[in-house]
Amino acid sequence: MDRQKGIEVLFNPRSIAVIGASSTKGKLGNDVMRNLIDSGYEGRIYPINPKGGEILGQKTFRSVKDIASDIDVAVIVIPAKFVLPAVKECGEKGVKALVIITAGFKEIGHEGQESEKKLVELAEKYGMVIQGPNCLGIINTHAPYNASFSAGTPKKGTIAFASQSGALMTGILDWSLMEKIGFSKFVSLGNKAHLDEADFIDAFGNDPDSTFILLYIESVVDGKKFMDACRRVVPHKPIFVVKSGVSEAGARAASSHTGSLAGSDTAYDVAFKQSGVSRAVDMAALFDVASVYDDMNLPAGNRVAIVTNAGGPGILTTDACEASGLDIAQLSNDTIEHLKSNLPAAAAVYNPIDALGTAQPEDYALCVEAALRDENVDSVLVLLTPQAMTKETETARVLVESREKYPDKPLIAVFMGGNSMVYPRIVLTEGKIPVFDFPERAVHALAELYKYTLHRDSLKDEAIPKFNPNKKKVQEVIDGVRRDGRRVLLGSEAHEIAEAYGIRVARIRLATSSEEAKQHAEELGYPVVLKIASPDIVHKSDVGGIRVGLTKPEEVEEAFLQILDSAKQHMPKAIVYGVDVQEMAEKGKELIIGCSRDVQFGPLIMFGAGGIFVNYLKDISFRLAPMTRTDAEELINETKMGMLLKGVRGEPPSDIAAIEDTILRISQMVTDFEEIVELDINPAFAYVSGQGISAVDVKITIGG
Ligand code: ADP
Ligand code: MG
Repeated sequence: MDRQKGIEVLFNPRSIAVIGASSTKGKLGNDVMRNLIDSGYEGRIYPINPKGGEILGQKTFRSVKDIASDIDVAVIVIPAKFVLPAVKECGEKGVKALVIITAGFKEIGHEGQESEKKLVELAEKYGMVIQGPNCLGIINTHAPYNASFSAGTPKKGTIAFASQSGALMTGILDWSLMEKIGFSKFVSLGNKAHLDEADFIDAFGNDPDSTFILLYIESVVDGKKFMDACRRVVPHKPIFVVKSGVSEAGARAASSHTGSLAGSDTAYDVAFKQSGVSRAVDMAALFDVASVYDDMNLPAGNRVAIVTNAGGPGILTTDACEASGLDIAQLSNDTIEHLKSNLPAAAAVYNPIDALGTAQPEDYALCVEAALRDENVDSVLVLLTPQAMTKETETARVLVESREKYPDKPLIAVFMGGNSMVYPRIVLTEGKIPVFDFPERAVHALAELYKYTLHRDSLKDEAIPKFNPNKKKVQEVIDGVRRDGRRVLLGSEAHEIAEAYGIRVARIRLATSSEEAKQHAEELGYPVVLKIASPDIVHKSDVGGIRVGLTKPEEVEEAFLQILDSAKQHMPKAIVYGVDVQEMAEKGKELIIGCSRDVQFGPLIMFGAGGIFVNYLKDISFRLAPMTRTDAEELINETKMGMLLKGVRGEPPSDIAAIEDTILRISQMVTDFEEIVELDINPAFAYVSGQGISAVDVKITIGG
């Protein structure tokens, strides 16, 4: 069955079999039964247990095959060794979706991995979908139904939550009951043997009961599938993710700059960015945004009005806004006049609006409503501190009325304090005004909402530029390297590949004797550069393997011998193929452009300030290939080098179009040739506008 159809059944089953249902308290099969019944599930429940009898008032069957009517979903809570035969029976019975709670699969090693594979084979054979194994179960509060062994059922709401950790879910559930946060779907992903996060993202995207998607993941199963799903969903629903754990990519061998500069988590960061997903710093931040989103419209812009009864909190909030990319709104003259004529003379009528410690509920209403009306304001933060004359609860009530009068902009409350704020906060929450105890968290949540609107709007369907490279040439070079039993290309070979993709390089030729070197120099034209040619020597300068600015044959001859000599001294074991002779390129701005490969997401392109200080400056940024022109533009703009290239202090701008073009050609190259596992161009010299670039050091490693 189509996976999405399968998840639809999983979300709204008409009948559920619980394989491993138990009447013994404390057994998971008992918890699942109890949750199903307690959640108010209205479909048929079929407990399956070979012992027969009744469980929680429901007649028990020995096998799903003994049930006459159709079964939509089977929840499996039996020991691992019985799971495969049970799944087969479900397949034969025509069950559409399975929730396999049982653990003891991939997570226990090879044997478990093998049986997990068989599970998936059975699912495919019988057209079923599988959630899990090794999961907590699934809850749909709107159905309603709870097919999990959680302690309790979450409140009904609009947040769809999927988690790779079942234990974390139980913690969140318990906490959400106290915080009165509601969920639409609660999905424990488990081992993700069959249905994975991307399948559920699409399903949440299509689910009318879910408006906001939260994910906790440690890894994704399929990078491209994940990004595609997110790109489909983000334009109409936010996806906020907490990603923990170091990805396997961290373990990859990295000999290139690009490989070593990309942290183990970089690919995830970039993948989220390129698919419009918001990454939350931690679980608390995740739910802060959810609580703000749930009850409000999205801010149309980043201009915030602050209303307060105390100076200090107002300043704190202002600082937090500025640090988070939110602007303090410039109030309109009408608003200022209105506030001036209605507030005490000592009040501050500009933003933040300080209605003073004596502010009464009606003063709050006046200020907040004026701010909500003001067309220069996109959202309003209202702060209250408990002072001698403050009427906390009454103020909360008045704010709820203001909210109802002006429902179109985000309004977030920060009621600072302890005991005196407990009840007022309940009034606000019930009146659909999200409330925080400290300003920074409120500001952060608002800023994340605003950033979501930017992510959403940045997702464009832009074509990937296509060039017309000489792929045959590239294949020839790669085949030659393979035949030679190498993975690291010589400089001359790497330059050939770059050239085949239309990248401008300083021409280079391998010489095996000083005579040949002089001949190459003659043909290339003086001045020339000589470089050691050895697959074992990655950083040529470090071994005295480079001589630049050679202007005559005698210098070439002398440099040839000296380079070989120096390499021998520094790295006696290195296999040396000769010395490369290269035309001397005019100096320009030094750039690095490179690529490494991530296990989940594929080619990760790096751009930044090049030269010998790359590792120290770390002025670099990343994108996943294949890239659009906008991706290339943004990649450059994210670095400080991007700023320098535009021309500072009277310098003319560099040829940014040519740099973009080079990045896009590399993006295509590493997409076309998966065997290119690492690539470093460092440096490429960038020249003034119209003069292009010149790559002088191209390093390529191919996969084994
Ligand atoms: P490596 O990075 O292995 O030490 P490079 O080929 O990058 O070797 O050379 C080191 C430095 O020498 C470069 O950063 C660049 O400044 C200079 N250089 C190398 N080749 C050329 C060239 N063809 N024209 C001008 N300068 C060059
Ligand atoms: Mg270099």
